[in-house]
Amino acid sequence: MATSGEPVLEVSGLVKHYPLTRGVLFKKQIGAVRAVDGVDFTLGRGETLGIVGESGCGKSTVAKLLCNLERPTAGSIRFKGEDITRLSGRALKAVRRNIQMVFQDPYSSLNPRMTVGDIVGEPYEIHPEAAPKGDRRRRVRDLLDVVGLDPDFVNRYPHQFSGGQRQRIGIARGLALRPEVIVADEPVSALDVSVQAQVINLLDRLQTEFELSYVFIAHDLSIVRHISDRVGVMYLGRIVEIGRDAEIYEHPTHPYTQALLSAVPVPDPDARQDRERIILSGDVPSPTDIPSGCRFRTRCWKARERCAVEVPLLAVPASFEEGPAAHDSACHFAEEKRVVPPESTQANGNGPG
Ligand code: ADP
Ligand code: MG
Repeated sequence: MATSGEPVLEVSGLVKHYPLTRGVLFKKQIGAVRAVDGVDFTLGRGETLGIVGESGCGKSTVAKLLCNLERPTAGSIRFKGEDITRLSGRALKAVRRNIQMVFQDPYSSLNPRMTVGDIVGEPYEIHPEAAPKGDRRRRVRDLLDVVGLDPDFVNRYPHQFSGGQRQRIGIARGLALRPEVIVADEPVSALDVSVQAQVINLLDRLQTEFELSYVFIAHDLSIVRHISDRVGVMYLGRIVEIGRDAEIYEHPTHPYTQALLSAVPVPDPDARQDRERIILSGDVPSPTDIPSGCRFRTRCWKARERCAVEVPLLAVPASFEEGPAAHDSACHFAEEKRVVPPESTQANGNGPG
C-alpha cells in the first residue's frame, strides 16, 4: 500500500537497556543488556515497514516499546506528532487503543480457558468506552467474520483451532479497538509454511479495509518481501540499513544485509549466477558486550581500522545521491562495490554456474 501525508509513527534515538544483575538476595548491577540501542525510523500512514533481523537483535523489544508495554531508557516515539513515551493515565490509555500488537505465538498468546468470543472481546473490558456493552457481542461476531472465521465459533476454545485459525483469532482481537497501527511481531513464524501466505494475505487485505499502518517483524527477509513497502534490517539493537523494498532486495549496501540476502533462495537461475552465499564468520556478539565502533565489524569482511573506532551513522552514502543505492545504510564503506569474502563463500545453487 502507498504512503501518504505525515507519518503515523516517528521513532527517534530509541534505547532500551535492561540491567544485568548478579546475585539472588543482594542483586548487584554488573552491566546492561543493550536490547535496543539507538533506533530511528518513521512509519507512513497506510504503510508497511518490515523489520528483519536474527533472533535476539531486539525486534520484540522494539515492538513492546511501540505498544507502550515497556518504557524506553531513552528516545522518543511520536504517534501523529505526540510523544507517547511520557504519557500516563487517560492519555496513555487512549494512545494504547491506537497501536495494537499481534503476537508471535498463537499457541501461548491465547488464554486456553477463555472462549474465542471472550478473547476477541477482551479489549472492550479494558477499554469499555470503545463499544457499548449491548453492542459487543455483535462486534465480536463481525470481527470473526472479517478475519475469515465462522461467527458461530464464539463459544469454542482455542485448543479447537489450528495454528492459522488461532492467529486469525489474535488478529481479530488486535482489530477490536479499531487501531490505526498494528505491530505484528513475527505473526507467521510459528505457522506451517503453507499457512503463512494465507495469514499474510489476510493482513494485506485488512490493511486496505481498515486503513491500517503496519510494523511487520520477521527474522527472515523473504517473509516480509511481499507485504512491506520499506524494510529495516536490525543487528544487535540497531537498524543497519533501511529503504524501499526494491532498494533493499536488489541494491543492498550494508554487508550484513548482503549476507542475509545471500541466504534467501532465488527462483531465477540466471539471477542466481552472480549471487554467492556469504557465510558470516563467528557468532553475534552479546548485547551486554557490544563491539566498539561499528557493531557488525567483528563479522564483517570489509572491516578495517576505522570501523573499530568510529560508529557508522545510518545515512545515505555520499556518492549515492540518486538511484536505488541511495537509501540509509550504516556502513563506512557502503559505497564500495560489493566484494564477497573469498574463503567464506560457497556457490548458491546447483551445478556449475
Ligand atoms: P528478538 O525479538 O529480536 O529475538 P528481543 O527483543 O526479544 O529480540 O531481545 C533482545 C535482547 O534483549 C536479547 O538478548 C534478550 O535476551 C534481551 N532481553 C529481552 N527482554 C529482556 C528482559 N526483560 N530482561 C533482560 N534482557 C532482556
Ligand atoms: Mg522476538
